[in-house]
Amino acid sequence: MKKALLVIDYTNDFVADDGALTCGEAGQAIEQTIASLTELFIKEDEFVVFACDLHEANDKYHPESKLFPPHNILNTAGRELFGSLQNIYKNHQKQSNVLWIDKTRYSSFAGTNLEQLLAERGIREIHLVGVCTDICVLHTAVDAYNKGFKTYIYENGVASFDENGHNWALRHFKNTLGAEIISN
Ligand code: ZN
Repeated sequence: MKKALLVIDYTNDFVADDGALTCGEAGQAIEQTIASLTELFIKEDEFVVFACDLHEANDKYHPESKLFPPHNILNTAGRELFGSLQNIYKNHQKQSNVLWIDKTRYSSFAGTNLEQLLAERGIREIHLVGVCTDICVLHTAVDAYNKGFKTYIYENGVASFDENGHNWALRHFKNTLGAEIISN
C-alpha cells in the first residue's frame, strides 16, 4: 500500500439532478472516471478513502449555514454516494483498504484522522477525485501541500458548479501547489 485515492464528496446532494447543492451535469460527467479509478485502486490493494461532508440538521453554529443551503444531512439520501459509486462502496466496504470518513469542513484533513490513517500506512502519495474542484478538493489539496504529500489530481475526475472556479483551481493545483494534473 503505497498510495491513497481520496473520493471527495461524491454524494447525491453534490451531484444528482435533485441534489441540494449540485454540480449537475459537470459532476455527473466524472462518474465513470471516479468509478474506474476506485475499482483499480481497490484491486491493486491501495488505500481508498471516501471522504464525505456531514452536517446535522439546523446546525446554526456551523459556518456553512450562512453560506449554503442545507446539504449532506446525517441519515439522508443526499449523503449517499452518487450513481455506481454507492454500489462499489457497498461491495467493498468491509475490505481493510476501503474506508469512509466523515468530515465537517471543506478539507478532508480538517477535524478528521486522515493524516494519521495515511501515516500508519506509510502513504505519502495521494490522488484526488470528486467535487467541488474549487472548494473541498482545493482545500484538501492545500492541506496536503502543507503536510508534504505528493498530490495527483485527475482533470476528468473533479468537477464544480462553477466552471471558472474549476479552471482556476486546476491551474492553482499545478502552478502553486506543485500537484500533478493527470489529464486522461
Ligand atoms: Zn458542507
